[in-house]
Amino acid sequence: MPQNKLEIDLPGYAWDLLPYKKEPFDLYRAPLWHAEYNQEKRTPYAAIQTSLGCKFGCDFCMINIINRNDNDEIGVAGNYSFMRHWSPEFIIKEFDKLISMGVKTIKITDEMFLLNPKFYIPLCNLLKKRNKNDELMIWAYSRVDTIKKPGILNLVRDAGIKWLALGIESGRKNIRFEISKGKFQDVDIKTVVQKVHEADIEVMANYIYGLPGDDRSSIAETLNK
Ligand code: SF4
Repeated sequence: MPQNKLEIDLPGYAWDLLPYKKEPFDLYRAPLWHAEYNQEKRTPYAAIQTSLGCKFGCDFCMINIINRNDNDEIGVAGNYSFMRHWSPEFIIKEFDKLISMGVKTIKITDEMFLLNPKFYIPLCNLLKKRNKNDELMIWAYSRVDTIKKPGILNLVRDAGIKWLALGIESGRKNIRFEISKGKFQDVDIKTVVQKVHEADIEVMANYIYGLPGDDRSSIAETLNK
């Protein structure tokens, strides 16, 4: 298969250059919750990206500044909202390197891991094969409106993804719509969270207080959701 441009520009991770004391990755520790509150499982630990950027352009978010491709005096991150992916066949080799070095506690740092099924479904299938004893302890990000297809969450869980961070942002629909320029689809958040839990995946809900349009009552609404 021909390499995509990202694979040519950034052809893999130099894990071997990371400093360590006795064993690779032993200077890196997962947050305690990610290690299931077991100090022994906190290290070795690694974070990996399977894509760069985000196709959404939320006003408050700076993540897409890494995609900036102009010399305008002021760069506005939301103007460069696109994603670049390593192919699943390419990036699984990086997971394999981590697993071969004993790393099972892994953060997938992608802003929107569960978005494009063309990438995440084959990658989850490849991870599933490596998670035979359910030893992988992975977490990843999704938005509430991008977990759609039935059965997907079971595949995600089988891949060893045991936590999903969901960008809920605001309990009030019109504020969510405003910050995402209307790209945030209307979903029943409680139903989504329930489905994630039913798939045996924990939810880490992300909220922002003080978004454009927020006032005391909307903040209270978000808090009480
Ligand atoms: S969906 Fe998330 S990562 Fe993407 S632009 Fe909005 S806040 Fe940023």
